[in-house]
Amino acid sequence: MRGAILYGPYDVRFEERDEPTIIEPTDAIVSIAATCVCGSDLWPYRGINPVAEPTPMGHEYCGIVEAVGSAVRTIKPGQFVIGSFFASDNTCPNCQDGYQSSCQRREFVGGAQAPLLRVPLADGTLVTTPEVPSDDLLPSLLTLSDVMGTGWFAASAANVERGATVAVVGDGAVGLLGVLAARQMGAERIIVMSRHESRQRLAREFGATDIVTERGEEGVARIKDLTDGIGADSVLECVGTQESMMQAIHSTRPGGSVGFVGVPHGVELSGEGLFSTQVRLHGGPAPVRRFLPELIDLVCDGKINPGKVFDLTLPLDQVPEGYRAMDERRAIKSLLWP
Ligand SMILES: [Zn+2]
Repeated sequence: MRGAILYGPYDVRFEERDEPTIIEPTDAIVSIAATCVCGSDLWPYRGINPVAEPTPMGHEYCGIVEAVGSAVRTIKPGQFVIGSFFASDNTCPNCQDGYQSSCQRREFVGGAQAPLLRVPLADGTLVTTPEVPSDDLLPSLLTLSDVMGTGWFAASAANVERGATVAVVGDGAVGLLGVLAARQMGAERIIVMSRHESRQRLAREFGATDIVTERGEEGVARIKDLTDGIGADSVLECVGTQESMMQAIHSTRPGGSVGFVGVPHGVELSGEGLFSTQVRLHGGPAPVRRFLPELIDLVCDGKINPGKVFDLTLPLDQVPEGYRAMDERRAIKSLLWP
């Protein structure tokens, strides 16, 4: 089969590689119905995270189960499934607590930008839809594999409650879906920090009530202006830089919460600085598996449409253009059809 392989900075190729096979008896092989490029794929693509060897890319997936190993009990060939970028057994203490991304047996699921994918710990990792979905639902179901689940976790970790005032730092796909999540959780006011008109429009469609274009301390000052000088109850940090993290912490009211899901790159926090803010910090790799059943229902019932975040759709063999468009910020997120 042919799939996406990253060779080095700005060098992703669509080329022949081995088809995945069942290695462990708990594995499944999934025939990919739709996949996409993640914002986090851009870190190695830009050379910020170096790649040691040619690496199969992609970790967002949904599709039909092709085959299962001999120890797989609940997942069956022919079912439509969605899973997270971390495989999890869904039975260990961390999984039971809802932190499947810290599963004691977790494994990264990679190589999804291809027609076939090996998913370890299939019974714990994969969640089925009630029936094989129609094509128009695929983009939204695909987002549940990572980007929507991560936006949802940002809102959950930031303790968004009904009637809350929420600020979102970052207008990438995760930030925009964090807006959708906050709206769904009943936030009354949702302030998005964004400078891009097309992203502002989508943010409003997803439920944003206010837009702040300033950044850094100026952005913080604007959020304070909008919240009677206090700050937001819940702030979603969806970027992962020093500036975005400080912007998030300083935009939060004392007693409020920051949910941070942007993978930190060079972020350093001072103990003294944190001490005086009196904010709660919670984040990390999203336990997407925890949210999958609920989010699948919301999509299948037509209550949320997170697939709108894809503004570029390409056949899988044009995957290099999917990366380029996101790197150059011509696209928010690229959907790929195998
Ligand atoms: Zn586990």
